[in-house]
Amino acid sequence: MRFAFISDIHANLEALEAVFEDIQDQRIDEVICLGDIVGYGANPNECCDLVNERCPVTLLGNHDAAAVDQLSTQHFNIHAKIAIEWTTQNLKTESERFLRTLPYKATKPQMTLVHATPYEPNMWYYITSLEEAAFNYQFFDTQLCLVGHTHIPIIIVLDKDKELYVHQDTEIHLDDVKESRLLINVGSVGQPRDRNPRSCYGIFDSDAGVFCYRRVSYNIEKTQAKMKKIKMPEFLISRLADGR
Ligand code: ZN
Repeated sequence: MRFAFISDIHANLEALEAVFEDIQDQRIDEVICLGDIVGYGANPNECCDLVNERCPVTLLGNHDAAAVDQLSTQHFNIHAKIAIEWTTQNLKTESERFLRTLPYKATKPQMTLVHATPYEPNMWYYITSLEEAAFNYQFFDTQLCLVGHTHIPIIIVLDKDKELYVHQDTEIHLDDVKESRLLINVGSVGQPRDRNPRSCYGIFDSDAGVFCYRRVSYNIEKTQAKMKKIKMPEFLISRLADGR
């Protein structure tokens, strides 16, 4: 099976469409969405529709939860709060209903899937250090755990000697890291923050035992113009071009 993992779309329709177009050429059997479909961008409903149609497994992200009042925005920064307020006001009933059905976690043979962390996925913690990664390995028992949330693609390996390190390539072959377990952040479709403005998503080929990232260009100016029109904070608009 060839799986594609998309995450942190954040209502960026141009990015999502570009990624789905790229996915079409990758012989993918199943697309999995790790959450944060809405928040920040101008097309929450269109993104909900596309994800609902294309992804048999979709998880709830913290922005999705906040948009349907399942999470308070007290810990959100001011830009995110403004974006959530606009999203809540502009979400169609159908999109709202879809977001309310989403789970915090899913599993597949070989894989644990969460938006934030395997440890209490409903608390929206971040994995930003090897210490936090090490802690989280206790809370999944599959070979792979795939996450989103930080918008930073990274592959963390716990090898057979219990050594933890960051894999320094955008592709990893399970045969090269035998008996290892991997914690993989699949990056962000709609608001990458690793100084690369192109959309990021991941592909796992379970037969070949290979995970790799894809980067996809999209029409950033079009997305930005739409955000300007609905008066999203300038910071949210400009960061797309810088990938930060
Ligand atoms: Zn996000």
